[in-house]
Amino acid sequence: MPPPHILLLEDDPAIAKTVVYALERAGLRVTHCLLVADALRQLATAPPDAQHNVLVLDIGLPDGSGLDVCRHVRASPALQHLPVLVLSAHGEEIDRVVGLELGADDYVTKPFSPRELVARVRGLLRRAAAPAVTTPPPTGFTLDTDSQRATWQGQPLALTRRELGLLAELLRQPGRVRSRDALLAAVWGHDSDSADRTVDTHIKTLRAKLQQIAPERDPITTHRGLGYSVSTLV
Ligand code: CA
Repeated sequence: MPPPHILLLEDDPAIAKTVVYALERAGLRVTHCLLVADALRQLATAPPDAQHNVLVLDIGLPDGSGLDVCRHVRASPALQHLPVLVLSAHGEEIDRVVGLELGADDYVTKPFSPRELVARVRGLLRRAAAPAVTTPPPTGFTLDTDSQRATWQGQPLALTRRELGLLAELLRQPGRVRSRDALLAAVWGHDSDSADRTVDTHIKTLRAKLQQIAPERDPITTHRGLGYSVSTLV
């Protein structure tokens, strides 16, 4: 088994050099990209497996944001479980929060010590190699919020924007109950004057569309008085 591999996206030559050196000293293989476009090409040409690879992303890059790469990875069925660590610049609290919301697994704030980074990367590799109970099972859903497309059991779903939003919110943490208020805020926005019933109505139509594809399966659970969750185990 070759050593684990790190795909590093970082445009600052001094930081990149230090990071590459520290990771290689730790016995890891490193591919270094300077541009978002290079990293995306690399991910497309040789999709890395989630057990032996970690993606380390700087945010501010000449041709875009590392957060876009993170979003792309999480929306891609082949890459969605790939561990992602974000390098957030000092004072960019927003970027850190957004990074975690987009599904980054960890972050370090610049300036960071190379040892700290290596420890975090090792932590992600350990987690990824742990028994399957800690890695989410396949959900039977695929979701691409950029193109507003979703599939269930391999069949395309014709969802409205709100239905897709609800599904995306629930799928962020399968099994977790989300209240109607939380779903309303996430999908309709905080200043929405829609009522709880709006959520119920859209869940109902979403459910009907899922059942058209697989009548015997109902991945959405209603928790009376609490809200909804989506199950990955049906
Ligand atoms: Ca940068």
